[in-house]
Amino acid sequence: MPHQTPSFPHSWAKPPVSVLPIHDNWQVAAHANGFEIMQRCADPAYVELKCQTCERTHEKRHSVILGSTPICPHCVEHRWREDATAAGVKWLGRDPQHRKRGLYRARCGHVVARQFELIKRIVAGNCALRCETCQRFTEEAEARTAGWELVGPSPDRGSSYRRYRHRCGHQQDVARANMQTERVCCGGCGVSWATAPSFIYCMRFILPCGTQAVKLGFSRNPRSRLFHQLMCGPDIHGTLLDQVAIPTGRKAQRIEKRLHRCLEEQHPHAILPYSIYQDHLRVRSEIYHARLEPKILLLLDDLALSSRAT
Ligand SMILES: [Zn+2]
Ligand SMILES: [Zn+2]
Ligand SMILES: [Zn+2]
Repeated sequence: MPHQTPSFPHSWAKPPVSVLPIHDNWQVAAHANGFEIMQRCADPAYVELKCQTCERTHEKRHSVILGSTPICPHCVEHRWREDATAAGVKWLGRDPQHRKRGLYRARCGHVVARQFELIKRIVAGNCALRCETCQRFTEEAEARTAGWELVGPSPDRGSSYRRYRHRCGHQQDVARANMQTERVCCGGCGVSWATAPSFIYCMRFILPCGTQAVKLGFSRNPRSRLFHQLMCGPDIHGTLLDQVAIPTGRKAQRIEKRLHRCLEEQHPHAILPYSIYQDHLRVRSEIYHARLEPKILLLLDDLALSSRAT
């Protein structure tokens, strides 16, 4: 005789479900909020609710149906997912550490945890998502360019400062803005940006939109500044066109200021507005239209000649 699976009535398989009554006033309250009560759950305090919007079910305390406004968790998650897409990130799920946060895959590929409200503000264009892992890489590169190593946040000097370790081993808190411009003096060994050798450089950038720009600046390590610090992503093309050695950082800074003054006076319309490159380059000024490139290279030639003469 072939084996037969015994068939039990539904109520036998899940005995506690549907045995208890669904009161009319519960069903009325559920309908008023866009739900239908399907059945009682194993836990008598709970009922199974079907959302009339997404048609999916979930379990809810019947006291919530009578006492407050029930919300469909599937519809809520659907909105979080849509917000994520609109904000340009991928929804990965709720953050188990924090009920008001979700986990998202950022464009860079890293996973970030963010409050749902923040994602809405990004969609509204009120703020941007900054990946902390990428941010850490950027700040490490800035420090390396200046000859330091990033240790972490400054314990007592506020959010604009970081703790860094010099190659001599000495640690100190420095304003990040000074690390970005390499203007740091070591309190341990006395090495100072002002007395260390430096360079005046000229760089060319091609932005993703096709705009060509040129930058004049000074750095103790222009190549590192270009490749590890200035460009925000691989879609930006950068070239170090020329660099002139200057005996000290202080002298390089003076020369750089003089050259910028001269360019700004003679070519005020060649200064690129910050809005054009703000998403692509980690600088706020000193960026010119590419048509100034020959002029800047001539200035650097003159500078090289005059520094050789002295
Ligand atoms: Zn729903
Ligand atoms: Zn990242
Ligand atoms: Zn030092």
